[in-house]
Amino acid sequence: MHLARYSINGQVHHGIVEGDQIAEISGDFFGDLSRTGNSVALADVQLLAPTMPSKILNIAGNYLSHMGDTPPFTRPQPFLAPPSSVLEPGGTIEWLEGCTNLHYEGEMAVIIGKQCKRVSEAEVKDYVLGVCCANDISEREWQNGATTNDGDVQWWRGKGADTYSPFGPWITTGLDYNNLELITRVNGEQVQYTNTSDLIFGVDTLISFISQSMTLEPGDAVFTGTSGQTQAMNSGDITEVELEGNGILSNPVGFPS
Ligand code: MG
Repeated sequence: MHLARYSINGQVHHGIVEGDQIAEISGDFFGDLSRTGNSVALADVQLLAPTMPSKILNIAGNYLSHMGDTPPFTRPQPFLAPPSSVLEPGGTIEWLEGCTNLHYEGEMAVIIGKQCKRVSEAEVKDYVLGVCCANDISEREWQNGATTNDGDVQWWRGKGADTYSPFGPWITTGLDYNNLELITRVNGEQVQYTNTSDLIFGVDTLISFISQSMTLEPGDAVFTGTSGQTQAMNSGDITEVELEGNGILSNPVGFPS
């Protein structure tokens, strides 16, 4: 089942995507998903980020192919991105003042379905609503520490600036999140390819680990990490992240309007 959050005529709604239609539901995705009986054409709505998370947990270094010569971490290494970094499907990734080395990071996002505090790995699946595509946008000049001209001690803007956390296009329930193909394209050319079976720390391990120290709330997102080596983007580029069974998240890169 594909769960979409969308606006039409300035009103925000939640619904179930069925072919080229969305069946509206009452309330949000954390209730009983009861249908209102209204439906609307997918082409007539503005898709929104599927949730408004209280926080986003990103995972650093979670594919061997991304680690280069660096030894893999021996435990998960999460870091935070703020809700203000959320970007909707189709929204413009902003080339902010000072950007010089702005990279895509195609990832699978896991969306939390109910409050999750100190859960075991075996329990995690009961707390996951579903998965979707994510793009952990990264300004490497800001990210790479305070040793460079314009580097920062923390990743507050390098990975947390406005528009740096697109995710969507909707949440898909019922997928085996341990075995999904994940592809990134820039201007139609494939630039990343992996399978989530290659995650060093899988979803159950990540969420159990995080939940020992930080309560995850319904709608919170865990961006599970990126694969391979990434490249700089340019203003005008179109990024796409495609997760098997979910769909395609497409966002252009451009200067702020
Ligand atoms: Mg990342």
